[in-house]
Amino acid sequence: MQFEIITIFPGLFAGFFEHGIVRRAQAEGLVTVTLHDLRGFTHDRHRTVDDRPFGGGEGMVLKPEPLAEALASLEIEPKSRRPQDDGTRVVLLSAQGRPFTQAVARELVGLKRVVFVCGRYEGVDERINELYCDMELSIGDYVLSGGELAAAVVLDATMRLIPGVLGNEASGEFESFGVQDAAISAHVEGVPRSQHGAGGLLDYPHYTRPAEFGGLAVPEVLLNGDHQVIRKWRREQQLRKTFRNRPDLLEGAALSKEDRALLERIKKDRY
Ligand code: SAM
Repeated sequence: MQFEIITIFPGLFAGFFEHGIVRRAQAEGLVTVTLHDLRGFTHDRHRTVDDRPFGGGEGMVLKPEPLAEALASLEIEPKSRRPQDDGTRVVLLSAQGRPFTQAVARELVGLKRVVFVCGRYEGVDERINELYCDMELSIGDYVLSGGELAAAVVLDATMRLIPGVLGNEASGEFESFGVQDAAISAHVEGVPRSQHGAGGLLDYPHYTRPAEFGGLAVPEVLLNGDHQVIRKWRREQQLRKTFRNRPDLLEGAALSKEDRALLERIKKDRY
């Protein structure tokens, strides 16, 4: 999968792409990440990428011409002239965008190429959004200084869903927001059933050695090797954590009869 990033600060990404899974995915040829310096698409002495907003007001706005040139250099035409199924999506990072979630990462992962447009200052001239961008994505309800961190977040979450990028093929599905899917369950024969996708719930808590730390012992249940009991305990912890931190997720979660009974008990514990 190819990721292209258009930014005025390509240097911001250096450390991020040189470590961990992103570096390994590139080394193994599963992913390519290319940075494009927006200033390289200007033609004046000052390499100007911004200008004052029409209508007045604070700050500056990224000019459309350098962005259009940068996109043209990637052979990206305006949407009206692009074939529908060319496997490319142009993503504008924006606080005004649709919320980025694991489900959106799953939408992106099937594509051949994702091109990120990173805004700065007050943002990007809206005509770039209208003419070229397929998606306007926000990584949360807060305002960042630029789209670079947001692009890195979307890239990271998407890339780790590419088959082969994570060591354990199905491990992305075991995490918070993972899907519960029969094909995945079949794929991971022998793994305790509770790990077959979080089914829209948050993940359960994890522990490693030492068995005692800071006066706290690892829950006894995890030490006894009884996978049925561990499975049940983990499921209950998922429900507890989701109820405590993200009750909004319970509505859309895939809950069994057993889960619902557990949840009722958790609610009673609480009140
Ligand atoms: N004037 C904009 C607003 O109020 O919505 C904020 C502009 S912000 C200072 C500069 C750039 O940071 C944006 O163009 C966008 O690319 C990026 N950005 C800021 N917050 C973001 C968020 N929550 N998600 C994604 N990108 C964001």
